[in-house]
Amino acid sequence: MAVKLPIYLDNAATTRTDPRVVEAMLPAFNDTYGNPGSRNHRFGWESEELVDTARRQVADLIGADRKEIIFTSGATESNNLAIKGAASMYATKPAGEKNRGHIITAAHEHKAVLDPVKRLAKDGFDITILEPPADGVITAQMVKDAMRDDTILVTIMWANNEIGTINEVPDIGALCHERGVVFHTDATQWVGKMPTDVNKDNVDLLSLSGHKMYGPKGVGALYVRRRRPRVRLTAIIEGGGQERGMRSGTLNVPGIVGLGKACELCALEMDAERERLYKLRVKLEQGITGQLDHVQINGHAEKRLAHLTNISYGFVEGESMMMAVKDIAVSSGSACTSASLEPSYVLKSLGVGDDLAHSSLRMSLGRWSTDEEVDYTIGKVVEAVKKLRELSPLYDMHNEGIDLSKVEWQAH
Ligand SMILES: *Cc1c(COP(=O)(O)O)cnc(C)c1O
Repeated sequence: MAVKLPIYLDNAATTRTDPRVVEAMLPAFNDTYGNPGSRNHRFGWESEELVDTARRQVADLIGADRKEIIFTSGATESNNLAIKGAASMYATKPAGEKNRGHIITAAHEHKAVLDPVKRLAKDGFDITILEPPADGVITAQMVKDAMRDDTILVTIMWANNEIGTINEVPDIGALCHERGVVFHTDATQWVGKMPTDVNKDNVDLLSLSGHKMYGPKGVGALYVRRRRPRVRLTAIIEGGGQERGMRSGTLNVPGIVGLGKACELCALEMDAERERLYKLRVKLEQGITGQLDHVQINGHAEKRLAHLTNISYGFVEGESMMMAVKDIAVSSGSACTSASLEPSYVLKSLGVGDDLAHSSLRMSLGRWSTDEEVDYTIGKVVEAVKKLRELSPLYDMHNEGIDLSKVEWQAH
């Protein structure tokens, strides 16, 4: 059977909404359209019931209590609320002063963590940005070494969105609890794929997003620990006092229902799905690395997500590579965040050189990825790299035994 093109291998960027999720959302548009904040009539009560069910579904997926779930517009907002809200609440000095408290994060976090942290640096907080080692894994020891007496917040993602590496979250959380420091984790790529228990895993604040786990876009949640210890946040969005005052605004009922359903499905299916996708990823990696020299898989060999792989291809140029595999939707190692073609800051932070970072592709499998699609992708990538290398004088020189690092290039 011929595979249907284009092939979607960019599930770390976003996932298709599961049709079962869409189905579950429809009544929240058509029938149960009340405002869950309307306390005095049936329309409101019925909407509130839907929200309640979703809150339980989200809480169950991560081992939380439903009172600990705050609905947001996605992980970007959850991160902003967690980081700015905790910093403001636990600041040791009032706004306008310096040295208001110390915050630890890492260089390969998502921009939705790094930018709020940089904002806090301008607002008088001291920041440590940990440089990850070559394997990309942030350990509890690294965090421990960076801790100070005035540390108030640690924010370290659970799994990295570009390379899939998994940080030592339970141990980092344990360390934070020992020191009485609030611990936030951006778990957007982790939740729904890997078993999660906020209590066993020592997490105080956890961000998640609907559209990375087969739910709708524009909805997410922040878990906020209520006991041992109780974590408090200063609200960022103020208004009607919804979500226990932590996030005002009329609730996105259809989105929330969809997020809840997505969480329920992940809870039921993630183990089997992870196993299936792991086999496909191994096949993909072996297919590519087995047929090509000068390729490198980025990030720790084992400590990474099952469905994602990030591979650098030596002696090919990133843009030509993207063009050559254009019927496969992947993500490139060049930041598409701006018009300028900067190599990925995540790969750079691991010490991957500019050339290899530029010629990297992230491929992320998902719920509807098939064996045939993986076969097609292997064939296409191998063919593309071989073809591009035929045109590469550098690859020729390398094969002739010339050490390219010693070549003195003539300026024209
Ligand atoms: C996608 C992503 C985000 C942003 O999530 P949105 O819901 O799109 O705002 C934040 N962090 C990580 C790790 C992500 O992968």
